[in-house]
Amino acid sequence: MQYLKERKMVLEVAQKINKEKMVPGTWGNVSLKIKDQPLLLITPSGMKYETMTIDDIVLLDLAGEVVEGERIPSIEKHLHAHIYEQRSDVGAIVHVHTIHASAFAVAGKSIPVVLEETAQVIGHTVPVASYAPCGTDQLARQTVQTLGEGNAVLLANHGLVGVGADLNQALCVCQVAEKTAQVCLLAASLGQINELCPEDISLLRKQFADYGQNKKK
Ligand code: 13P
Ligand code: ZN
Repeated sequence: MQYLKERKMVLEVAQKINKEKMVPGTWGNVSLKIKDQPLLLITPSGMKYETMTIDDIVLLDLAGEVVEGERIPSIEKHLHAHIYEQRSDVGAIVHVHTIHASAFAVAGKSIPVVLEETAQVIGHTVPVASYAPCGTDQLARQTVQTLGEGNAVLLANHGLVGVGADLNQALCVCQVAEKTAQVCLLAASLGQINELCPEDISLLRKQFADYGQNKKK
């Protein structure tokens, strides 16, 4: 079997979104681009995360055709493949159905940048791609278009997609988008939401690139 290490990484993040209750049942999906190859690894469609193994992860080409694997790949394979085609900087994608982000997706409202983490990890308001049924090419096209050069996008009446250079980044984008949505709803119940201004957002984003162990010595 090819790409054992990468398969393990995909499985680990898939099981994390399940453990962290970011998806109900078997929903959601995770993918990883194979470096310098027109290939991606993706979770199988409609399989329980608890019993998923590395054998269940499917290797696809960017047209969504199965290259290696026995399982039917995620129905969102075109959404994942289309993002990798359009964004050479994206190395991993996580799609979840978290509650508070979904509330914004149902209301058709973008998630504003209200927390420092939102500015640091995402760096922009999270927009909503207009509705298209799950698994369709139309959803894939609209998602890519609305995502643009960003890191997160809401799918109307559906959920959230986070992208990153690697799996940890894509997962973190989803965690921060969900937390931001929850905090917004709580702040709204207190009567006020104060958004960060564009200057502070861009400062925080820049500082974050040189934060913690990324810091140049
Ligand atoms: P899959 O189980 O086919 O990945 O579909 C889940 C989902 O969230 C569809 O949007
Ligand atoms: Zn979904």
